[in-house]
Amino acid sequence: MQFLGTAAADAMPGPFCECWICQEARREPARNRLRSLFLLDEENIIDCGPDLAAACMKWQVNLSSLKNIFLTHTHEDHLCVSNAGLLIMSRTRAGVPVDLYLSHEAYETLSDSHERLGSPYAHLDAVKSVDRAVVRFHPVTLFQPFTVDGYQVFAVPTTHHVSERERAINYLFTLPDGRTLLYACDTGIYPSESVEALAGRAIDILIMEATFGSRTDNDITSHLNATAFLRQLDTFGARAIITERTKVYATHINHKHEFNHEQYQAFFDERAPLPVVVACDGLMVD
Ligand SMILES: [Zn+2]
Ligand SMILES: [Zn+2]
Ligand SMILES: [Zn+2]
Repeated sequence: MQFLGTAAADAMPGPFCECWICQEARREPARNRLRSLFLLDEENIIDCGPDLAAACMKWQVNLSSLKNIFLTHTHEDHLCVSNAGLLIMSRTRAGVPVDLYLSHEAYETLSDSHERLGSPYAHLDAVKSVDRAVVRFHPVTLFQPFTVDGYQVFAVPTTHHVSERERAINYLFTLPDGRTLLYACDTGIYPSESVEALAGRAIDILIMEATFGSRTDNDITSHLNATAFLRQLDTFGARAIITERTKVYATHINHKHEFNHEQYQAFFDERAPLPVVVACDGLMVD
């Protein structure tokens, strides 16, 4: 498993930004963050954002056998519909479909867009991919486990605001080797029904967004900052969602605060109740 991208929507450096975080990332490419993507394996990926092609080039990832995309929500840093063009342009998979798992609300959003675009836009790769069933939608029912190619999956709601009708969903995976992974990105502070649904699961790996770093004035019901990240860890610990054996990673980090990577790591080293790794692009999770 690998972090292919660990930035929030802003990217790092943001191409149009000269803040000190972006300038430092420009000087030191190891600090660059592509927009968030997480590879479970070369057949299964979480989200499908605008940096997919760049990330695959950078980390020598081959998605020619991709089967499943688990979409958290339709924000553009997590879903880039032009990726459908890359799929149908492949010379080696000739119409082999990809199954896209998503919330009912995300499905309605995408179905509406597809219908409204109609025949004047039939040339768009995203429209073609749906018309040709190269991308197949599978709306998931929250709190109802399902199995996909050896992964057991369980989706929970979050407070992360997408639109009037959509909030992001997060996925708890039971991996083929039996370990459990909660991908909490994007999330915000969890609603109580999600906490209760996950209580007692003692998950092995937690990957959670830590978008706003040292900021404390953002809306934490939509995105976490460092302090809210710790608060959520406390909640998860109190309900045995995590234990001292859980490996915790922070991802989806933006530039609108005053922590660089080392400062963010130092913050968690000093204050977190268990080790937290601030992820960087390319980091492997074994
Ligand atoms: Zn995001
Ligand atoms: Zn910046
Ligand atoms: Zn989002």
